[in-house]
Amino acid sequence: MTKKQRAAEIIARLAREYPDADCSLEYNEAWKLLVSVRLAAQCTDARVNVVVQQLYARFPSVQALAEATVEEIEEIVKPCGLGHSKAKDINACMKVLHETYHDQVPDDFDRLLELPGVGRKSANLIMGDVFGKPAIVTDTHCIRLVNRMGLVDGIKDPKKVEMALWKLIPQEEGNSFCHRLVEHGRAVCTARTKPYCEKCCISDVCKRVMS
Ligand code: SF4
Repeated sequence: MTKKQRAAEIIARLAREYPDADCSLEYNEAWKLLVSVRLAAQCTDARVNVVVQQLYARFPSVQALAEATVEEIEEIVKPCGLGHSKAKDINACMKVLHETYHDQVPDDFDRLLELPGVGRKSANLIMGDVFGKPAIVTDTHCIRLVNRMGLVDGIKDPKKVEMALWKLIPQEEGNSFCHRLVEHGRAVCTARTKPYCEKCCISDVCKRVMS
C-alpha cells in the first residue's frame, strides 16, 4: 500500500466516523478566530471559549482591542496561560487589522503570516475555516496521528509535516481531514494513554498496527 493509497483510505474512513468534525473554537467573526487561536496555544479550546466571552464583553471590536493596553487584555486572558505574550500579540495583531485592513482579516496566506502572533497553523486554520480555501492545520494531534498512521515517517516539524501531507491529500480534503484528526486524537488515538487501536476504524491500514 502506497502512502497515497493509505491516505485516501484513512480520509474516507475518518469522514464516515466524524462527518461533522469542525473547529471547536467558537467565533462569529473572522477576527475573533484569530484571537481565539492565539489564546489556544497550550490551553484547551473549552477554556478559550469561556475567556473570550469576558474579553469581548469589555472589548467588542477590532478597534477596541487595538486601543486597549496590553495590561488590560492580559488581565482578562491570563487564565489561558502565557498571558503577557498572548495579550501583546492580540493587541499588535488588532492594531494591524485596524490600521491596514479596515478591521477585516485578509484572505491571503502570506498576509496572514505577516500578522503578529500568527504562524502557519493559525493562517491555515483561517484560510480553511473562514475562507473555505485549501488548508492543512498541523497541530499536535495531526503530527502525532499522521506519524502513527504512516502518512509521514518520523517528521515532527509542523511545516515539514504540512508539506508532506500536501503531496498525499487532495486540496479540498485537507481542512476537514485535520478537524477529523483532532477528534480522532481526542477520542481514540490519544496522546497520554496508549492509543485504543482495538476500537479504531483504521486499524487495518494503520502503520503502527501493521508493522
Ligand atoms: S490504529 Fe491505533 S495508532 Fe493507528 S490511528 Fe488507530 S488508534 Fe492510532
